[in-house]
Amino acid sequence: MFRNLKRQTAFILLVLVTLLMTMSTALATTYVGSVNSDKFHYTYCRYAKRIYDENKVYFYSRDEAINSGYVPCKVCCP
Ligand SMILES: [Zn+2]
Repeated sequence: MFRNLKRQTAFILLVLVTLLMTMSTALATTYVGSVNSDKFHYTYCRYAKRIYDENKVYFYSRDEAINSGYVPCKVCCP
């Protein structure tokens, strides 16, 4: 019985760690631009949602986007 409980705990921990890692990756990519424009957006911007997945360029920081030649979107103001 105790053996089983340990296994369950290990499983729950594994799920939690995986979830946390997925979330931190999602949070790390805060900005998104398009290969077809020079604007970058917050990922939740309605214009960002219009960019096709294959044209998306992700940035981990505002500086990174600007250094890549992108300008902040005037709607979401990243
Ligand atoms: Zn925007």
